[in-house]
Amino acid sequence: MIFRAQCDIAEGEELKFGYISGMEPLAERKKMLGNYGFECGCGICIAEASTSRKKFKRRDMITKEIITLFEAEKPTGLHIYIAHLEALDATYIYPPSVEPRKAVITPVMNILPELLRSRMYVQAVELVLLLLRQLGFEVAITDTSFEFRRWGFMVDEIVMALADLCDAFRVVEPRLLADVEGVARKAYLIMCGEDGSWEAEYGRHGSNERQGKKEMGRVEGLVEGVEGMKVV
Ligand SMILES: [Zn+2]
Repeated sequence: MIFRAQCDIAEGEELKFGYISGMEPLAERKKMLGNYGFECGCGICIAEASTSRKKFKRRDMITKEIITLFEAEKPTGLHIYIAHLEALDATYIYPPSVEPRKAVITPVMNILPELLRSRMYVQAVELVLLLLRQLGFEVAITDTSFEFRRWGFMVDEIVMALADLCDAFRVVEPRLLADVEGVARKAYLIMCGEDGSWEAEYGRHGSNERQGKKEMGRVEGLVEGVEGMKVV
C-alpha cells in the first residue's frame, strides 16, 4: 500500500486514507462506509451534510451550463468559463483543500481534450492547473522546476489530466517535462498501485508536438495567467 501525504505529518499523528473514491453522493458513501462500522468525518462529508439541496441543484445546473457553453463555442478561450467557475465555487462552503470542487472535474475533462486537439497548449496547461487548484492541490512552478507542494483529491481523472499536461508541457515548456512526467507517473502509481504500465497507457501521448509549435503564436497572448510559464 502506498501512502502519499497531502501535508506534513507530525510524529505520532494518525494517518487517514480514503476507503472509497469520494465521488459518490453522500447518502451512498454513508451506506458504503456503514460496512466498516464508522461514520466519516472528513471535510467533504461534513460540508456536504450541511449543503442545501438548492445549492446542489445550482451546482448541477452550472456544471451543465459549462458543458453546453463548451459545446456551442468550442474552445475560444478559458475566459468564457470564468464566471461559471466562480459561481460554482460559491456553492462550496470550505476552501478546496478541505472541500474539493468535484463538480469541476466533468466539465474540465470535456474541455481538455478539445484544447489539445486544437493545439491550444497554453490554455490546456491553465485548465489543468485550475483543476488541480480546485481539487486542493498546490502546484509550485518556477523556471526550473514543477512540483506539488500539496497533493489534493485523487481520482482517475487526475492521472488523465496530468498525462495531458505532459503533452502540453512537451510543447510549451519542454525543460520542465521531466518534472511533470515524474508527478504524472506518481499519480498513476497512487491510483493503480504500480507504474510499470505507465508507458503503455500514456506513452502514446506527445504525437502533437511538431504541429503544435507552428500554432504557438495563436496562444502566446494568453500565457500571463500561468505563473513562470513561457512559450518557447
Ligand atoms: Zn468523508
